[in-house]
Amino acid sequence: MPNLLETCGLTAFYGDFQAIFGVDMQLQAGETIAVIGANGAGKSTLMRSIAGVIANRSDMILHSGEPIGSIDAADVVRRGIALVPEGRRLFPSLTVEENLQIGSYGKRDAGYWSLNTVYELFPVLRERRRNPATALSGGQQQMVAIGRALMSNPEVLLCDELSLGLAPVVIKDIYGAFAKIRASGAAIVIVEQDIAQALKVADRVYCMMEGRITLTGRPAELDRADIHAAYFGAS
Ligand code: ATP
Repeated sequence: MPNLLETCGLTAFYGDFQAIFGVDMQLQAGETIAVIGANGAGKSTLMRSIAGVIANRSDMILHSGEPIGSIDAADVVRRGIALVPEGRRLFPSLTVEENLQIGSYGKRDAGYWSLNTVYELFPVLRERRRNPATALSGGQQQMVAIGRALMSNPEVLLCDELSLGLAPVVIKDIYGAFAKIRASGAAIVIVEQDIAQALKVADRVYCMMEGRITLTGRPAELDRADIHAAYFGAS
């Protein structure tokens, strides 16, 4: 059985600037993995590459063994890979419900997620469904961004820095929803700067530094000092 998602020696560039260098990452069906690393380590670039926002060679990204590196972002969603982007990128003038509905364009046919199941996951969004997205708190906006991605019925949910700028109690609420998302059958990749949070939710962790994977393993197998060195570099 091929991995559900795999990157093989993935590289990515912004013009002449190389942001990631030969990243090998594997995700199996039903698994949750976390990518940790400091600012600028290349985590978002890895997510954007998989989501088809950054062009790549086709053989560097495989979905169920098929190369997807050079297909465009809409087709990546259609294949069942959805991104919750860093900074949420909601449509400010649209309501909560309209933002969610946008996520269902080009979705996979079958799946658990609908407006109703997203509202069951985040009941506060049902209450606020007619409000413009900008009227919501940061945490609620993050819920809309997650809900919008779920509306495409993803097999793989890519989450880029969900906790950025949110209060600890709100972060707890948001990660509290992940058990249900996992139960829906989705495999999850979370990008996190918060090491403790990543170790709590993930089956396996990848640490990145300066565009390379510096450490990988299951949380229980990883040594604190090794994580520190892989995250910050040797001191
Ligand atoms: P952050 O936590 O700050 O989002 P990150 O680990 O996600 O960090 P990336 O955003 O992937 O890191 O950035 C990796 C490298 O690519 C950094 O050196 C960054 O400055 C550079 N970079 C990111 N986006 C662009 C861009 N649009 N144009 C040029 N360089 C970029």
